[in-house]
Amino acid sequence: MNSEDTAATGRTSGAGVQAPILEAEHLKKAYNGRPALRDLSFSLAPGRILGFLGPNGAGKTTAIRILTTILEPDAGRFTIAGIDSRCPEQIRARIGVLPESQGYPKEMTGVGYLTYFARHYGWSAKDAQRLSWALLEVVGLQHRARSLIGSYSRGMRQRLGIARALVNDPAVVFLDEPTLGLDPRGQQELLALIRRLAREHGAAVILCSHLLSEIESVCDDVVILSQGQVVAKGSVLDVIGRARGSGVRVQVPLSAMADAEQVLEALPFVVRVVPKGQGSGWLLVEVLGGSAESNIAHNAVLEALILAKIPILTFEAEGSRLQEVFLQLTEETIR
Ligand code: ADP
Repeated sequence: MNSEDTAATGRTSGAGVQAPILEAEHLKKAYNGRPALRDLSFSLAPGRILGFLGPNGAGKTTAIRILTTILEPDAGRFTIAGIDSRCPEQIRARIGVLPESQGYPKEMTGVGYLTYFARHYGWSAKDAQRLSWALLEVVGLQHRARSLIGSYSRGMRQRLGIARALVNDPAVVFLDEPTLGLDPRGQQELLALIRRLAREHGAAVILCSHLLSEIESVCDDVVILSQGQVVAKGSVLDVIGRARGSGVRVQVPLSAMADAEQVLEALPFVVRVVPKGQGSGWLLVEVLGGSAESNIAHNAVLEALILAKIPILTFEAEGSRLQEVFLQLTEETIR
């Protein structure tokens, strides 16, 4: 695995960078000869949340199905907690998967449902009950433990599903579009729960979403897929920050370089100004902040140069190429 493949790891602790809990190398899958996943490689460290982001048909569900051993890849391999993908049963024992939203038995109670799964994983009747109550508390459903699932709201069912995914104390939890169909409050509560899972329980989480805002608010790392291809991957800050532009390139006449540097360095939000290419007149201006703030900063850079009467030959937002990929990739689907 090369260094780019490990871009989505790198959580540091006192002990330094943690070893990945999941490593995927060159996964490929086609349906009836049509590629759905072309070459997926990434790795994930414990306690980190990774998002698969992409519009419908990008290959997110196919990737999740492969990693949860429901589908076999045509090529490539992966390991979870050191177990090779050629041992699917052992992998299944170490992962948790959010069930499909229709897959809940309406006539069971929440606690009955969880106890059933805990028994399936070999807990004694008493321990299974105890574990189920503890998990219901983790997901904030203890007060409805004895209600029938048929009476649960969609958000409550999703939280029960997360509790079920945790029954076997998994190393990696897979959540495919977990907030689909929830109202904004339900969405926020579920995302907060997912964050807690990773932070307090140390589970690594893989989350699929077509919503950029969701990935941005909850994930540490992101893999952006488009038509089965990885178009970007790495930490959310790097990928999304870069996509939205955290700097600008300006070209000024050579004779105005020194003045331009001086004017721009005096701006409070400018981190630094770096001349690019010997004698080309290009300056790279790094600005503070991520998305919205950097747009304001870009305008202020322009304004400062104009006020100082420095001719601007070219002005480009950093990362605009990736931004184009984003727009192309997302069209209307990512907000
Ligand atoms: P996403 O989850 O990002 O919406 P999918 O992994 O579901 O994407 O789909 C990727 C591509 O594979 C799409 O073009 C989809 O139509 C196709 N596909 C998915 N599942 C099947 C299937 N069972 N049979 C044939 N084609 C499929």
